[in-house]
Amino acid sequence: MLEIRQSCENCGKPLPNESSEAMICTYECTYCTDCVENVLYNVCPNCGGGFEKRPTRPKRLLAVHPVRQDLVSHPVTVNKYYKRYKDLDPRQR
Ligand SMILES: [Zn+2]
Ligand SMILES: [Zn+2]
Repeated sequence: MLEIRQSCENCGKPLPNESSEAMICTYECTYCTDCVENVLYNVCPNCGGGFEKRPTRPKRLLAVHPVRQDLVSHPVTVNKYYKRYKDLDPRQR
């Protein structure tokens, strides 16, 4: 089940379930659209994959499957996958 993280792991911007700015990689690393475009250039610093828009969980299901409660913070200093993947389409990495 998808883990809904509540903030950008880089800049800390709030990304609640209903946010349209939450982006995730295949491992659910979560960043805001601004960081994905202007800091990460669509290269996840943890796995090298690309990002897609995070789906919003329907409100009625939040009571059963709540968002992740603790905040996840991994500010990006060096993106070790940037050089390798910046010019390669995420579907081809
Ligand atoms: Zn951010
Ligand atoms: Zn990742």
